[in-house]
Amino acid sequence: MYPLILAFHKVIPDEHTESPYFWDALCTPYTNFISLIESLYQENFAFVSLQELEYAMMNPKERTVLLTFDDGYYNNIAYAYPFLKAENIPFVIALNGKCIEHNTWQWFDKVWFEGVQSQKSKEQITTQIQQFKYNIPVLEKWLSKQNNTVHSEETRIFFDIASITELKALKNTSFVSHTYSHYILSALSLSELEKEISQNLDFFTKNNVKIETDYFTLPNGTKKDFNAQTLKYLSEMGVQYIFSMLPYIKESNVLARYTPVHATWQKEAKRYKKQRLLYKWFK
Ligand SMILES: [Zn+2]
Repeated sequence: MYPLILAFHKVIPDEHTESPYFWDALCTPYTNFISLIESLYQENFAFVSLQELEYAMMNPKERTVLLTFDDGYYNNIAYAYPFLKAENIPFVIALNGKCIEHNTWQWFDKVWFEGVQSQKSKEQITTQIQQFKYNIPVLEKWLSKQNNTVHSEETRIFFDIASITELKALKNTSFVSHTYSHYILSALSLSELEKEISQNLDFFTKNNVKIETDYFTLPNGTKKDFNAQTLKYLSEMGVQYIFSMLPYIKESNVLARYTPVHATWQKEAKRYKKQRLLYKWFK
């Protein structure tokens, strides 16, 4: 069976699922996270590291799973990391330099928080994010007028270099690039794309963080979020495999990932069922 690659963003305390500031599409409650890992153990999945992924893809005899965390939210360290460390489970983190360098939220977090504060509906906020996604000049103009909004539930935002250094000490942790600003790559010109990629690598090189350049994680990563220019440029840069959010394999080097757990148990159960059907498809 093809390796199962799971994509997480925030792992949050269970009680925070009630807060409108936590966008359920990006949040996994701690209890759900732990039970998902336990069910993977029960289903005889072996947890592989990034270094073992290629071998697992070439030798799909046993059930393997790779855990990936996008963006580098501080709550990964606070909640997921102690458990993963104790269980010696490998994981990959896709990092954006901008959030770390400027101690700021992702642009879509800012849109979300501003929307919650102005009492917009979830649908209105999602529409706003969709509009900004493919219109970077309009997004940048909007961002320039925003504060670095914080809300009381979550005061630490992103990793800092010190927390990355702690994670680096674990043998099984790998870091991959996720662009500098998390802009949607299909919305960028070639020179903007080059800048997003090189600025991120330069930032981490300067800070002594080793980025695994054979791999790359697409911002957002659904069908409309990258194009032929993206794939061509990344392959010219030596990237072998690209993590997407597509639930199926499209190109040989674009890897399918799943977000398994959402903020409510019900939604998660639905997703998980769908995922089990996909396992069968891959067999
Ligand atoms: Zn991301």
